[in-house]
Amino acid sequence: MAQQQSGPRTVRAARGTALSTQGWQQEAALRMLSNNLDPEVAEHPEKLVVYGGTGKAARDWRSFDAMVRTLQTLKQDETMLVQSGRPVGVMQTHEWAPRVLIANSNLVGDWANWEEFRRLEALGLTMYGQMTAGSWIYIGTQGILQGTYETFAAVAAKRFNGSLAGTITLTAGLGGMGGAQPLAVTMNDGVAICIDCDPSRIARRIEHRYLDVEAKDLKHALDLAVEARDARKSLSIGLLGNAAELVPALLAMDAPIDIVTDQTSAHDPLAYLPIGVAFEDMAGYAAEKPEEFTRRSREAMAKHVEAMVGFQDKGAEVFDYGNSIRGEAQLAGYGRAFDFPGFVPAYIRPLFCEGKGPFRWAALSGDPADIAKTDQAILDLFPENESLARWIKMAGERVHYQGLPARICWLGYGERDKAGERFNEMVADGTLSAPIVIGRDHLDCGSVASPYRETEAMLDGSDAIADWPLLNAMVNVASGASWVSIHHGGGVGIGRSIHAGQVTVADGTKLAGEKIRRVLTNDPGMGVIRHVDAGYDIAADVAAERGVRVPMREG
Ligand code: NAD
Repeated sequence: MAQQQSGPRTVRAARGTALSTQGWQQEAALRMLSNNLDPEVAEHPEKLVVYGGTGKAARDWRSFDAMVRTLQTLKQDETMLVQSGRPVGVMQTHEWAPRVLIANSNLVGDWANWEEFRRLEALGLTMYGQMTAGSWIYIGTQGILQGTYETFAAVAAKRFNGSLAGTITLTAGLGGMGGAQPLAVTMNDGVAICIDCDPSRIARRIEHRYLDVEAKDLKHALDLAVEARDARKSLSIGLLGNAAELVPALLAMDAPIDIVTDQTSAHDPLAYLPIGVAFEDMAGYAAEKPEEFTRRSREAMAKHVEAMVGFQDKGAEVFDYGNSIRGEAQLAGYGRAFDFPGFVPAYIRPLFCEGKGPFRWAALSGDPADIAKTDQAILDLFPENESLARWIKMAGERVHYQGLPARICWLGYGERDKAGERFNEMVADGTLSAPIVIGRDHLDCGSVASPYRETEAMLDGSDAIADWPLLNAMVNVASGASWVSIHHGGGVGIGRSIHAGQVTVADGTKLAGEKIRRVLTNDPGMGVIRHVDAGYDIAADVAAERGVRVPMREG
C-alpha cells in the first residue's frame, strides 16, 4: 500500500479483507490504482508509467498521493473526479453513481496532435492515459496474450475449421507485444516461425516459455516447421535475422506458409531494421542519420510487404497486425501495400457484432485460488465454447500473474452479465475470499472510435464518428459501474482515437448484483447497437435473437 509521501516509491496493492477505505467500491479503486504501479505490472513505475510508451496511472506523485488520500475517506454517496491523472474534485452523488469518474488526455479536435499534447504535458496540465493505464485496469502481458490468442482463433475459425493444427504461420517481431505471437499460435495448436533481428528478444521469449526453440538458419526453421506440421504438433520456432530479407527469401523458396502477419515495430521507422544494416549498428545509425535511416527502413518495409502480398497471391491468409507496416510500405512507393486487410475488419469485427470483447477480472484478495475458482465457474457456465475452454485451461497452466491475480477472456452480449453475477454470488456465499473487480480493455466492441484500428473500414464509413464511446461511458455511469473513464489517443496515438472504459466491483451485495446485471448487459450491448447501426447483418441477428432494442428497426 502506498505511503503518504510525494516522490517515487514502491507501490503495491493491499491484499486480504481488511479495508483502509469506507467500502469495497473505494477499496477496489485504490487497490487497482496501486496495482497498476506495482513493479511486477508497470514498465516504469518510478515515472508512474504503466505500459504503452508513456501511458500513466497518475499525473505525478502528488496527484497519486491526493487520490490515495481521497479514496481512503470517500463516502458511499460521493464521487471523485479525475482530470488526466489528477483528482480535481469530490462531489456528492448517490449510491448507484460511480465512485470515480475519469477523463484522460482529451483535447479539442483542432488541437489534438502530439506536438500540442507534449506542450501541455510539459506544462503539467495533462497526461497520456493509454487505455487501461489511466483507468486502473491493466493486468500485465496476459491481456496481449489473450488478444493475440483470440485473433489466431478467429483466423482458425475463418479459414482452417477452427484449429491451426497442420498449419504454419510466418510472422516477425518478438518484442513486448509481438512476443505473445508464438504462444498464441501454439495455444491454437499451430506451428509458428517467428523472425526477430535482436537475439536477446529470442532468448527472452524462450526463457519465459512463450517460444519453444531457436532455429540455426532459415532451412532449419523450415524443416522443423514442416516436420511439426506433418505430425500435427504445435511448435514455435525463433529465427534470427531481418524480416525484410527472410520473408522474401521464404517466398522465393516456395515455403508452404498458410498464414502471414507481422509485429515488428513498423509504426516507428526508426525502430525497424533496414536491409544491409547490422542489428548492433541500428541504434547508433538511427540516432545519427534519422532521415537516411527512415528512407532505408521504409524501403525495407516495402520489400517485406511485397513478399507478404506475394504469399497472399499464392493463397495464404495474410493480415496487418496493427503496426502500420502497410502505410509505411506505401510511403516507400509500393502500390499494393493495402491489398491485405487489417486484423480488425478481417477477424475481430464479427466478434464485435456479437458484443464480444476482452472481459477481465482481478481478485482483490490477492489469492490465486480465487482466480482458479472463477476459471472453473467460466468453464461451467459456457461448456459449449471450446476455444474459451482451451484458453482458460492453458492460461491456468501457463500464465504467470503480475500483481493481483487476474484473468481475461472474450465474452459477448448475454455472457458477461452471467459471469459477473456468478462471481458476485461466489463472493456472497464465501466461495471467494474477497470481492472481484470486473472490467475490460478500452479496445472493445462498442467503446472505441479509432479509424486506423478498431473502426477501420466500417461498412457505412462511420470510422471516425466518436459519439459511440461517449454514449458508452454515459450508459455505464447510468447503469451503476464503479468507475468510468473517457480517454483520447490510446493504442494509436493522440488525434487518432477516443475510447471509454468501465470497472464494476462484485462485492457480494445485492446492490452490486443489480449493478453488475445492468452494466454487463448494457456495456456489450453498445457493441451490438453500434454495429447494427453501421449495417452489419450479424449484429442485427444478435439484436433480434437476444432482445437488444434498436428503435430504428422497431415500428
Ligand atoms: P517492440 O518494439 O517491443 O518489438 C518490435 C520487435 O521488432 C523488436 O524485437 C525488434 O528487434 C524487431 N524488429 C525490428 N525491425 C525488424 C526487422 N527488420 N526484422 C526483424 N525484426 C525486427 O514492439 P511491440 O510492443 O512488440 O509492438 C510491435 C508492433 O505491434 C508495434 O508497431 C505496435 O504498435 C503494434 N501493436 C499492435 C497491436 C494491435 O493492434 N493488435 C497491439 C500491440 C502492438
